[in-house]
Amino acid sequence: MEILRSPGNGEILAVLVGDGSDSPLELIELAGRTAHQSADKISPGTAEAFVRKILARGHGSVLEHSCMTVRFRDCSRGFTHELVRHRLVSFTQESTRYVDEGRNLRVVCPPDRDPDEPVLIHLPDGHEVCVSFAQWVEMNEQMYIGLRGIGWNKEDARQVLPTGIVAEIVMTANFREWRHVFSLRCAPTAHWEIRAVMKDLLKTVRARVPVVFDDLCP
Ligand SMILES: Cc1cc2nc3c(=O)[nH]c(=O)nc-3n(C[C@H](O)[C@H](O)[C@H](O)COP(=O)(O)OP(=O)(O)OC[C@H]3O[C@@H](n4cnc5c(N)ncnc54)[C@H](O)[C@@H]3O)c2cc1C
Repeated sequence: MEILRSPGNGEILAVLVGDGSDSPLELIELAGRTAHQSADKISPGTAEAFVRKILARGHGSVLEHSCMTVRFRDCSRGFTHELVRHRLVSFTQESTRYVDEGRNLRVVCPPDRDPDEPVLIHLPDGHEVCVSFAQWVEMNEQMYIGLRGIGWNKEDARQVLPTGIVAEIVMTANFREWRHVFSLRCAPTAHWEIRAVMKDLLKTVRARVPVVFDDLCP
């Protein structure tokens, strides 16, 4: 059992670029100039100005020509549950049906909370037990292992697992959708975990992909 005290992270696995180029902006420009048949205006350095103009005019569909794949690690199932609400995205997520969670249950705890602080629980039969977050997770793991021991398969024993359990997920989306996801999930109203991970990722993305995400503030 392991309690994670800090938010997970998103690692860029791939950014789609055009043939013979290493910048997604050139691909967006090449595709975007189809509209006015103005490919003859392409020269070194024009892609950046072109994408700025696209953004200023709100022609978001042109940004859909490039996409990015990110792997999220050490984030909770609560985080992935919020992420998969985004529908214009492709996902592949670690399966609790097939992965044995009894080997080392890893759970994300809010960083500003003490996982060892005792909590007094009043049970319906009148008894009281004092148990911390960490002890509860430990019992959870032991219950999972116990159920497996009496013959429950993984996909049934998983029913006792907490929302805080760590789950890896890979997400691919086009830039327009990434902009939408960042704007919703970096906002102060978002949950601390997804907000922390997305703000951190946005900083990395802005360094890797010029212009496209510049107006979004991590
Ligand atoms: C702070 C916060 C709190 C939230 N709280 C809750 C909650 O309490 N309960 C809850 O159920 N959800 C909640 N959500 C999830 C939220 O309702 C959305 O499901 C989620 O944010 C995905 O957003 P979206 O639909 O705009 O984006 P995406 O699914 O990523 O879609 C992108 C855009 O494509 C367009 N689009 C996609 N699908 C369609 C469609 N079928 N028809 C028309 N246009 C479409 C829309 O313009 C949409 O904005 C919350 C989200 C946030 C950020």
